Amino acid sequence: MPKNKANCKTFKEMEQKSKTHSKKSRFPPSEIYLSVLGNGSKSSSRALYMFTDHARYLFNCGEGTQRLAQEHKMKLSKLDDIFITHKSWENFGGLLGLSLTTQGMGVSEVTIHGPPDLELLYKQAESFVGLKDMKIVTKGYNDPFCDDCMEVKKIPIFKIVNSSDTTEYSSNSESLSSSESDDDRSTKHKSKRLRRSSHKSAPDLAIAYVCKGHSRPGQLLLHKCAEFNVPVGPLLGELKSGKDVVLPSGKIVLSKDVVSPEQICPLFLVVECPSEEFIDPFVNEKQFEEYQAGSSDLSKIASLVVHFTPPEVLQSCRYQEWMQRFPTSTCHLILNGDCATVNSLAIHRIQHQLNLLHPGIFSLLHENEYVTNDIPVAIQNTFQAHTLERYYLRPANGLDKSCALNFQPKDFIEEALNTEGFEILLKDLHSKIQENAKLSMNGDIYPEVIFLGTGSSIPSKLRNVSAILVKTSENGCMIMDCGEGTWGQLLRLCGRQAEDLLLQISVIFISHMHADHHLGLIMLLKQRKNVYKKLQKECKQILLIGPRNLKRWLKEYSQNFESLSSLYRFVECSSLQHDELFNSHEKNSFSECSDLLISTVPVIHCPDSHGIIVSSKDSNWKLVYSGDTAPCNRLVSAGKNCSLLIHEATMEDDLAEEAAIKRHCTTGQAIDIAREMNAQYTILTHFSQRYAKVPLFNENFHSLIGCAFDNMKVRPNELYILPLLIPALNSLFAEIVEELHTKGNKRRIKSELIKSMLTESLSSEIVQAKA
Ligand SMILES: [Zn+2]
Ligand SMILES: [Zn+2]
Repeated sequence: MPKNKANCKTFKEMEQKSKTHSKKSRFPPSEIYLSVLGNGSKSSSRALYMFTDHARYLFNCGEGTQRLAQEHKMKLSKLDDIFITHKSWENFGGLLGLSLTTQGMGVSEVTIHGPPDLELLYKQAESFVGLKDMKIVTKGYNDPFCDDCMEVKKIPIFKIVNSSDTTEYSSNSESLSSSESDDDRSTKHKSKRLRRSSHKSAPDLAIAYVCKGHSRPGQLLLHKCAEFNVPVGPLLGELKSGKDVVLPSGKIVLSKDVVSPEQICPLFLVVECPSEEFIDPFVNEKQFEEYQAGSSDLSKIASLVVHFTPPEVLQSCRYQEWMQRFPTSTCHLILNGDCATVNSLAIHRIQHQLNLLHPGIFSLLHENEYVTNDIPVAIQNTFQAHTLERYYLRPANGLDKSCALNFQPKDFIEEALNTEGFEILLKDLHSKIQENAKLSMNGDIYPEVIFLGTGSSIPSKLRNVSAILVKTSENGCMIMDCGEGTWGQLLRLCGRQAEDLLLQISVIFISHMHADHHLGLIMLLKQRKNVYKKLQKECKQILLIGPRNLKRWLKEYSQNFESLSSLYRFVECSSLQHDELFNSHEKNSFSECSDLLISTVPVIHCPDSHGIIVSSKDSNWKLVYSGDTAPCNRLVSAGKNCSLLIHEATMEDDLAEEAAIKRHCTTGQAIDIAREMNAQYTILTHFSQRYAKVPLFNENFHSLIGCAFDNMKVRPNELYILPLLIPALNSLFAEIVEELHTKGNKRRIKSELIKSMLTESLSSEIVQAKA
């Protein structure tokens, strides 16, 4: 049957054509699933990632979201739309940092859907989150959403406003006092302007998102058409559009026989009932009925409900009664503080491996130990979310728990022990530690330094952005810089003890306004307030020492989002400068931390950048922290003879030029400063993320220099151990050390080549000129 054969050939060609064409067209996606990025556990972010062939979406973006996205390879550069369920830092604390990162990736526009004022968040952060190359589009609850992949209906739930809320709103608009500086006034006027221009009395509301992927029309099955001898031509189009046709031979071909069935995408809801004041309007919201058991349209019944609702509300009878209005076939996925799983394997891997070097300095991390509630057992098909679990919408396979992270700490240890030569170096290290312990005369345990973030710029899976907790005495603590995710880091490292530490923190120092140094502050202040509330105690104010713009940012955040202003007393860094005040004790002593003397040093970085000098009135120690800086003489003289210097060392020595441009130090420069300062011990930190595992150790490193890692706790009587770790570290991370060396060599060869080419062309120019 030659005709048929010819027909088949044509169909094959067409099949091929349609395959290539579908890649380019915006036909509804063939694969759609939701993936838990951060399950909202107490130490992790809350974020749900939605994957489709075409577009990617994010529901909520708590602190640490971009760090998890990096580890779990969920591309942020592909995000089209971000949906926020309620105006709280827990939901959008990771948004500013994520925006900076995606701008760096070349993303030109992101749309954020959520409650009013999100635009204001970006306006207020303008001075430290500069988004010149990326447009942020904000869409409110009245803006419908529909693109090539899905349609989203937004249901606003308004909080019941009672009289106490009104007073809270009015107390936020603090009156101008005569003691305020001009800057304060202009800030106030500016913020008033901002508020007037947007939503002065923006109601507190949550938004529930009802999402439905577009149905995928049935596809013409060309091999079936060939079987029925349908000729190539207009009849094919008619069959595809659902019409039955009569062939020239008189034979009838039914559309359903040659077209695959339409693929309907199950509907899902993403909801949050943020607090008790929302329960009434939430459970009484009529619009939900369409998606619940009594719905008149079966295709609208929710296949999945994702709950960002906090535990105390989720556990309430009324909320559970609302959940029961869905049929038992509806799956409920909970992302909240009661979820307790490991969200990152990378953090645990490196900590388990470093723990082999020294179990005290690198203690194992705490997870899963602060859960209070189980899931509501009365409701079938309810699950606490685990990171990386997926819910498949197309193909409609539902919840797939097999993708969840598989935490096997034994593997991490084995991996380290299998590294060639590591075990011998480990034995050697342990015997050296013992030998040196006998020689070390220092028995001091304070100040104990706990590194919570030791990377620069953008958080990576192994190094979070800057934060250091210092235990200054048995009951005293301070924080030096507080990058995004600091609270999660503290909780993971210290477990139940983290809340006690929060109560002990009396001072927070923020060195400068770069986003990687302070975006974790709001969460830390909120968590501290919660602990006081839980204990039914009045919250003690923290002494917050920082750049002038930080004061403005926090004040505006308090006015428009959540009131924080009663939680701290602000002192500008520039008012505590070392030269003027350090030697007059009565002037720089603070009621919040009466045992400490604190002064600041202007350093060479961005405007209003400072280092800090802290010394104890009772014990004989002096601690210096550089913040971010290029080599700084003022810091050297202010820090003379300190017991411990914590200095930034962003780049390796070969990259001195790049370091100078960015106003940072190389490891060699930081070590030189330590020598000039006559620092007893020095710990280097703030490493560029290219050294996420380990920096390049060279001959500059000596027995008084250590290198910081995230989740490293070190007391003065343990400082001698840090330099001893280097051989074992080099062995453990041999692969990356080699890679860094290779890159360095390539760079050197390239720059020598450029230099010789320049000299050559210069000398030929001279010859020509002479001629
Ligand atoms: Zn920095
Ligand atoms: Zn900086």
